Amino acid sequence: MTVASAQRSQSAESAQSALDRVPRQLYIDGRFVDAQSGKTFGVVDPGTGRELLQVAEGDAADVDRAVLASRRAFESGPWRDMTTIERSRLIWRLGDLIEENLDTFAILESLDVGKPLQVSLTGDIPFAAKWFHHMAGLATRMEGTTVTPSLPGRWQGMSLRQPVGVVGAIVPWNTPLIITAWKLAPALACGNTVVLKPAEETPLTALFFASLLEQAGLPDGVVNVVTGFGHTAGAAIAAHGGIDKVSFTGSTEIGKEIVKAATGNLKRVSLELGGKSANIVMPDADLELAIPGAATAVFANSGQICTAGTRLFVHSSIFDEVVSGVAEQARAINVGHSLDPDVTMGPVISERHRDRVVSYLESGFEDGAEAAAGGSARPDDGYFIEPTILTNVRPTMKVVREEIFGPVVVAQRFDTLAEVIAMANDTEYGLAAGVWTTNLHSAHRCIQELRAGSVYVNTFNVADPSLPFGGIGQSGWGREHGEGALEQYSETKSAVMYLG
Ligand code: ADP
Repeated sequence: MTVASAQRSQSAESAQSALDRVPRQLYIDGRFVDAQSGKTFGVVDPGTGRELLQVAEGDAADVDRAVLASRRAFESGPWRDMTTIERSRLIWRLGDLIEENLDTFAILESLDVGKPLQVSLTGDIPFAAKWFHHMAGLATRMEGTTVTPSLPGRWQGMSLRQPVGVVGAIVPWNTPLIITAWKLAPALACGNTVVLKPAEETPLTALFFASLLEQAGLPDGVVNVVTGFGHTAGAAIAAHGGIDKVSFTGSTEIGKEIVKAATGNLKRVSLELGGKSANIVMPDADLELAIPGAATAVFANSGQICTAGTRLFVHSSIFDEVVSGVAEQARAINVGHSLDPDVTMGPVISERHRDRVVSYLESGFEDGAEAAAGGSARPDDGYFIEPTILTNVRPTMKVVREEIFGPVVVAQRFDTLAEVIAMANDTEYGLAAGVWTTNLHSAHRCIQELRAGSVYVNTFNVADPSLPFGGIGQSGWGREHGEGALEQYSETKSAVMYLG
């Protein structure tokens, strides 16, 4: 056996043992159960196009069961009575359990999404654990204020923070465990209960996570996981009268559907949606940082990151140098299967999505764009797209205006700071934006004037539990993390007392 084939059979063996640890049923009220319809659906490895396993296909009837369990767990029982320190400890434990099962989580995430194993091992999985560890502290900070009402006589006024109730968490497929943690950790810290729906493309880590909840000591019904499709299970969560808040991350189009569905009981809605983020390289930038930074900003996770730096703006004086540098970085990326240790970029999520990205590339070429690197899909069984940089683009082109959600960046030139800020802000989205500069004035102007929920300076795509995150315009409503976390998952109540 050659070294390469020995490595392959070893990784096939560890992949199989990770898959064997995945429950294939819904998790409702502390038990794994079949969907009421008895239906299942297949989960595909986007790196091969082959089915990995079948999981339960939950629908509205199963969402009903999950909501009942969540409601019961919210209103009575050990979760409600738990002290904040006990709750905090439990959430911390969830982070520990993710770390203790790092290898299994990483293999599952890589098989499911297609991302290189090393990325899951050092990025996604520890990152998800970090959210539980950070948010554990939030459990002890459900604090309000005392106020002095301006009323005649003696009064005492106060504000209290209380959990929202039952939270519906709808998660996309690009970073499944991370976004699960982004929603679950603060929701639980604030004392809510949750119905979680992972994306139909990527349910594996959510199901494996559910299998650890009992070990963590989470009372039954506090977290319920319903796997299933968006138009059935997802839509049922968005519309359900027994859900008090829905937290959604996904496309702008579906975000609007969620808003409409939520009007029935006027549940609270937070949305983290699409983006078309500007990435600006000023003439004074440190190009040793900026060139690889601009490549990573868009090619990480095969471009399937909502904050990806997909519109590159480079000062005219360095345009050719930066574009050829990013093109060189793109060509050096080794595209392939997630479990191949030499691979640095995986496939996109599905055949349908690959075809969508390809149709964007075709529209770009029809409009006159040119590829400085990449430009097509690979004729493989998996859904691979070459890392692509497009030049000769105009602001009106579809490839410049619309979110592609693939490894495609469009490069445009500019001459002045005011001009590039206007170009960067010429988008209906407003999730993130970045600038590479060594000039303090340019950095601060960009921080102040770029219309985006997050601005990066000499870095890109940085998220941290301490930093509020969310979008402006068509990129969504509300802020997750940081000071936004409490806002998202608690209600403020005011109380006033007449003292005579
Ligand atoms: P993408 O376009 O990136 O696949 P989507 O916005 O379609 O993202 O999906 C994100 C999440 O939203 C997934 O969990 C999906 O199942 C869910 N979803 C899709 N359609 C609906 C819907 N109509 N109502 C509620 N959830 C939905």
